[in-house]
Amino acid sequence: MADTVRVRFAPSPTGALHIGGGHTALFNWLWARRTGGKFILRIEDTDRERSTKEYEDTIMSGMQWLGLDWDEGPDTGGPFGPYRQSERLSTYREAAERLLDEGKAYREGDAVIFRVPQGVTLAFDDMVYGRIEMQSDTLKDVVMIKSDGMPTYNYAVVVDDHTMGISHVIRGEDHISNTPKQLLIYDALGWEYPTFAHLPMILGKDKKKLSKRHGATSVYEYRDMGYMPDSVFNFLALLGWSPGENNEIFSREEATKLFDLARVIKKPSVFDMDKLNYINQEHLKRLPPYDRLALVEPFWREMGLPVDAHSREYLAQSLVVLCGRGQTAKEAAGYSDYFLTFDPVKERYDGSEIGEEQRAVLKRFNADLLALEQWKAPVMEEFTREWSAANDVKMKDIAMPLRLGITGMKVSPGVFEVAEHLGRDEVRKRLAHFNFVE
Ligand code: GLU
Repeated sequence: MADTVRVRFAPSPTGALHIGGGHTALFNWLWARRTGGKFILRIEDTDRERSTKEYEDTIMSGMQWLGLDWDEGPDTGGPFGPYRQSERLSTYREAAERLLDEGKAYREGDAVIFRVPQGVTLAFDDMVYGRIEMQSDTLKDVVMIKSDGMPTYNYAVVVDDHTMGISHVIRGEDHISNTPKQLLIYDALGWEYPTFAHLPMILGKDKKKLSKRHGATSVYEYRDMGYMPDSVFNFLALLGWSPGENNEIFSREEATKLFDLARVIKKPSVFDMDKLNYINQEHLKRLPPYDRLALVEPFWREMGLPVDAHSREYLAQSLVVLCGRGQTAKEAAGYSDYFLTFDPVKERYDGSEIGEEQRAVLKRFNADLLALEQWKAPVMEEFTREWSAANDVKMKDIAMPLRLGITGMKVSPGVFEVAEHLGRDEVRKRLAHFNFVE
């Protein structure tokens, strides 16, 4: 077992899965998958007041959403539940008895306290931060078991990491200061240390510790805003690590192949929404059409658009024509509303900027366009080019009203691709509404 990598994510169920927690879970998961090791989920629910089953559930479903599956649990057969500290109290009690017998701990009422020896140098080699040393003299005695019978974090974490055979403790750098206390307990119990790898802090753009002030902090909020799990995964993996060669967009599988704990940098990383948006857009673009449709559809429905009035094929193709516009599924839904119905076009545009003279030109052009034998984007484009040259009209003076008339937007994907996809009859209907064609 010593050679096998075993890592754990050990959240306290006192809140949702936050960006920091998701990040820690992900780095543990990546290390396990990279090395063929095991990833364990351990719920640290010893704070009875603040721990809830609801938080435990949201943490687990947040992990599932990110695709961070764990490999072990106390329940065999069926999907694994997590380990829970509240279900392991006898293990903590046993080790505490031993330390009491050996005089390394003492009782204070019902509580058990660890006696910190003086004059000991505590040291460990952190995979990210390098060698860290501390003198035991600076530490106060450590409460191991509280009077309510529950173990404290610094004690339970040692008993668990040892008895679960954890090889690498990968966690946030805020735990560096706890580590020397934990080393003392390892020493007292005669156990070897695991390897420690503390992960650098995540800061907001203002270089302050990430908090609510910086926007959404729970992993779930990103799901609800229309971000893809693969891009949140990709984004979190880039906080403190990178696969090199400026490769910023990668799949779960690629990250799993390339991940290396030894290459995590100790500089704090910055949470940058623009970067997340960019990554999400790149992942959206790479999705097969029907997968993209599955992501965008709920947002179309939320906007009240007539999704069911169209075939699946038409809807999926609409997003192909949209050609990567929109950084999130929600944005893509907003940028493609005109494919589903004419109503939002009329709300955005009224055609009143077109004067009589230009309107006459438009009417001639559109009549010829709508009479084309083949309703295909390249044919329309070629025809428009020739028509503008032959009639001495600027291409944009005929193409822009066409774009506005069918999409209601000044910026859209290729106007002829949009026209082809909408179909000749629908384009005729929309242009007629603005009196751009007889
Ligand atoms: N329950 C602790 C936390 O959520 C775990 C720390 C650790 O991984 O040792 O911060």
